Amino acid sequence: MRELICIVCPQGCHLTVDEDNDYEVTGNRCLRGVAYGKSEAMNPTRVVTSTVCVRSGVHARCPVKTDHPIPKGDAFRAMELLNGIQLIPPVQRGDIVVANILGHQANFIATRDIPE
Ligand code: SF4
Repeated sequence: MRELICIVCPQGCHLTVDEDNDYEVTGNRCLRGVAYGKSEAMNPTRVVTSTVCVRSGVHARCPVKTDHPIPKGDAFRAMELLNGIQLIPPVQRGDIVVANILGHQANFIATRDIPE
């Protein structure tokens, strides 16, 4: 049995996932909690956020995030890919900073505009 708090909405239901019974989820108030509980127990993923350096006098760093969730266990390896990157303005929100992170078909993208 695994106990989780559902983070899909502010209700924060306390879920129990029975790994020995086909990942049966209890404690959920809606079906989104079932999907979340199964996903967390079977293959947890996260959207990863960080920042990268910018060659600019206006902003020293640019916030980035993955455009899709990646396996939670690869989050730190993914962030290591950002080391040494220096963006040259102009940067537009949505620009790809690192493509196809660790083969997961997710990209790090800029989340703010940085003018020249
Ligand atoms: S189970 Fe449903 S109601 Fe409960 S926190 Fe998750 S999404 Fe919200």
